Amino acid sequence: MRFRRLKLSGFKSFVEPAELRIEPGLTGVVGPNGCGKSNLLEAIRWVMGEGSPKSLRGGGMEDIIFAGTATRPARDFAEVSLLIERTADDEEAEGESEVTRRIERGAGSAYRIDGRDVRQKDVSLLFADAATGAHSPALVSQGRIGAVIAAKPVERRMMLEEAAGISGLHARRKDAEQK
Ligand code: ATP
Ligand code: MG
Repeated sequence: MRFRRLKLSGFKSFVEPAELRIEPGLTGVVGPNGCGKSNLLEAIRWVMGEGSPKSLRGGGMEDIIFAGTATRPARDFAEVSLLIERTADDEEAEGESEVTRRIERGAGSAYRIDGRDVRQKDVSLLFADAATGAHSPALVSQGRIGAVIAAKPVERRMMLEEAAGISGLHARRKDAEQK
């Protein structure tokens, strides 16, 4: 699976609709302090189904909605879309898909894949199979290198499983056991 394009609107400091192409290979984000580098990475994790506001540096999930500034009113919603390309090693057929997550104040999150309403679980499974979940080590957020070094053995094993691409199997097994 490859990420092709990220679209954001009302997500944290990205108040105006913004669109970023993601080129093949390693992507680095550079810029002055506070310009929104970490917010970008968080937007990717959020659209992939991140459920913990704390790991997005917020107290509640609605904190990711643009909160307004002295000169700009707050927004009522935030929306992030990630265009992905399924490659030959993915379970699903090859092709493109756009995953969208939207949150409205007081109404919670909703997910869509190619415009179709889906569950959070559908989005999580889509990414888990490609070993690119919201907690994937492929997304190296600030402080993460230190966290890997300081991790307990069990945590480090989970990181390695994620990197090895077998955590999708765990997610599917858990899903099957609950049925
Ligand atoms: P650093 O180099 O210090 O790590 P950074 O480029 O990673 O900085 P971010 O942490 O991504 O910067 O962005 C921080 C900015 O985002 C701050 O100016 C903060 O006010 C703004 N911000 C965060 N959440 C919201 C929100 N809900 N509404 C408006 N602005 C927000
Ligand atoms: Mg940062």
